[in-house]
Amino acid sequence: MKLLENKIAIITGASRGIGEAIALKLAEHGANIAFTYLSSEEKAIALEEKLSGFGVKAKAYKSNASVYAECEIFVNDVMKEFGTVDICVNNAGISKDNLLLRLTPEQWDDVININLKSVYNITKQVIRPMMKAKKGSIINMSSIIGIKGNAGQSSYAASKAGIIGFTKSIAHELGSRNIRCNAIAPGFIETDMTHYLKDGDASKSFLEKIPLGRFGKAEEIANTALFLASDMSSYITGQVLSTCGGLNI
Ligand code: NAP
Repeated sequence: MKLLENKIAIITGASRGIGEAIALKLAEHGANIAFTYLSSEEKAIALEEKLSGFGVKAKAYKSNASVYAECEIFVNDVMKEFGTVDICVNNAGISKDNLLLRLTPEQWDDVININLKSVYNITKQVIRPMMKAKKGSIINMSSIIGIKGNAGQSSYAASKAGIIGFTKSIAHELGSRNIRCNAIAPGFIETDMTHYLKDGDASKSFLEKIPLGRFGKAEEIANTALFLASDMSSYITGQVLSTCGGLNI
């Protein structure tokens, strides 16, 4: 059964990793996909083709999620091309890990702007069509690190904790309009962002902390996103769903 037939979904940062897996999953369930990328142009074009293979409309947009004006143009273009927005997945993100003593103002700003400001930039645009349609699902990519914190990741943790506060506030603001807003807090998922975790001793000590005893796969986050995007979660808003193999317990 397809859960998202004829829906229109926006996904930021879908050229690789978790965003790509979410785009594929939502398209498999019948959603038309407008997604952004920043630098991975070839991968974005390849994904556009893969998504079209599901018989849905798919378009890649080069758009920097940390720049407000670019997000405004992106969502306007999507409105012209696709007509509305039913689902918005704020996924684009980076990490620039450093102990606070060595963390530069530029590193701090990059992480906060790309991970947190981006969520404001896009959400602010998509709520207009959603309010008009009196429905919508917004999904923000937080992290287990935003809940627990981690040495060397203060900027990343602050950005991901900020996303949780934002998510709950928007759930309060827009619940009466039938717009739901939830966050996903992935644990350690196998993507380019976490490739360094898979080596030797570091990998062993990370694995020991995960009750399920393994890293997660991008598709497992995509399954969570599918649930939150669809009517299967119609009475869920303002929540943080930890897809982390039990790392949070
Ligand atoms: P990834 O493999 O490094 O991919 C990051 C994606 O974000 C790429 O498609 C990249 O596009 C895009 N991106 C980066 N900066 C952007 C910008 N300014 N504007 C638009 N797109 C931008 O990372 P991932 O592991 O899939 O992570 C995806 C999200 O999940 C992030 O928010 C991350 O913090 C979160 N997360 C990941 C994990 C994990 O273990 N992997 C755990 C918790 C949370 P280009 O390649 O085109 O530049």
